[in-house]
Amino acid sequence: MKKIRLGIVGCGIAARDLHYPALKELTDKFEITAVTSRTKKHAEEFARLVGNPVIFNSYDELLESDIVDAVDLTIPIELNLPFIEKAVKKGKHVICEKPISTDVNTGKKVVEISKQTDRVIYIAENWRHIKKFYLIRDLLNKIKNPLFFKWNLWIGMDEENKYAKTKWRQQPKHIGGFLSDGGVHHVAAMRLIFGEIKWVSANTKKVVDYLGGPDFLTSIFEFENGVIGNYTVSYGISGQEDFEIVGIDNRLKLTENKIIVDDKEFSFEENLGYKEEFEDFYEVVINKKKNDLGSPLEALKDLAFFEAAVKSCGNKIELKTLL
Ligand code: NAP
Repeated sequence: MKKIRLGIVGCGIAARDLHYPALKELTDKFEITAVTSRTKKHAEEFARLVGNPVIFNSYDELLESDIVDAVDLTIPIELNLPFIEKAVKKGKHVICEKPISTDVNTGKKVVEISKQTDRVIYIAENWRHIKKFYLIRDLLNKIKNPLFFKWNLWIGMDEENKYAKTKWRQQPKHIGGFLSDGGVHHVAAMRLIFGEIKWVSANTKKVVDYLGGPDFLTSIFEFENGVIGNYTVSYGISGQEDFEIVGIDNRLKLTENKIIVDDKEFSFEENLGYKEEFEDFYEVVINKKKNDLGSPLEALKDLAFFEAAVKSCGNKIELKTLL
C-alpha cells in the first residue's frame, strides 16, 4: 500500500495528544518523515516520541524538502491561511486542524485556494467522523415533525486546563476565541444531523477572566428544514450537558452513552474521529475520494455560525449574508 509521507507542523497539544495516537494506528498509510515547530526543543521532543523523523528548523525548509507529500498543520489558527497557501505553492497536500481560519473572510480565501489547486486541502473536523451523530441523523425519522433542538454544554475549563494555558488562546486573533475554536465541532455535528442553518440570533459574554475572548454564548437559530435550535455553551461554567430533539409527539435525548427515543434505548460505539479523519484524508489523496468530510466550504459554514453569533448582539443574522 502506498504511504503518504507526512510532515507535522506545530508540535503542541493537538499533534501530541490527538494526531499522533491516531497516526500510530495507521502506519500502513502514513509515515511521519518530518517535523517542525516554532521552538526547536519542542520539535526535538516530539520527534523522539514519533520515531525520529527529520527535524526542520523552519516550515519553509520543510516545504523545500522532497521527503514530504503532505503537511499536517496543528498550529495557532491565525497561521492556517498563510501556511496552507505556502504548502500548496510547494505542491504539498494539506490536512489542517479546524477551524478553517480566524474569520469568514480569510476562510473564504482558503476555499478559493482549494478550488484553484489539484492539491488536497482537508480541514480536519473530527466531529464529522463521530459515529453517534450519524446514528442520531438516522433516528431522526422516528421523530414525528421535529420542531425544536436544544443543546446546552457546560464545558467548565479551569485555569489549569491545557488549552486555556496556550498563549495564542489567551489573546485570540480568531473570532469569538474559545466559542469558535471549540464550537465549530458542535456546529459541524448539528449541520450533519439537521442540514444547513438559515439564521442565527445570539448573545455572547466574557464570564471568566482566564479564558481569552468571550466564553459564553446563547443562541436561537433556524435550520433550513424549519427546526428551531437553541444552543448554549459555556467554557467557564461546568455542568451537565443537555441534548434533546423535540417533535410534536415524541423526543430524542442523547445521554453520555446512549440515545433514547421515547422508551427505546440505542447504544453507540464511542469514537473520537481522529483516526477516521486521517483514513478519509488518505482516501481523498490516494484514491481520489470526494473531499466531502474535510471540505473547506463545510468548515467555512461551521465558522460562519460563530461570526454571525458574535456580530448578532441579539439581532437576527442570515448566514448567507456572510458566506
Ligand atoms: P498548541 O498546543 O499551542 O500547539 C500549537 C503549536 O504550533 C505549538 O507547538 C507551537 O510551537 C507551534 N507553532 C506556533 N507558531 C509556529 C510557527 N510559526 N511555525 C511552526 N510552528 C508553530 O495548540 P493546539 O492546542 O495544539 O492547537 C493547534 C490547532 O489544533 C488549533 O487549530 C486548534 O484549534 C486545533 N485543535 C483541535 C482539536 C480537536 O479536537 N480537533 C483539539 C485541540 C486543538 P512551539 O510549541 O514549538 O513553540
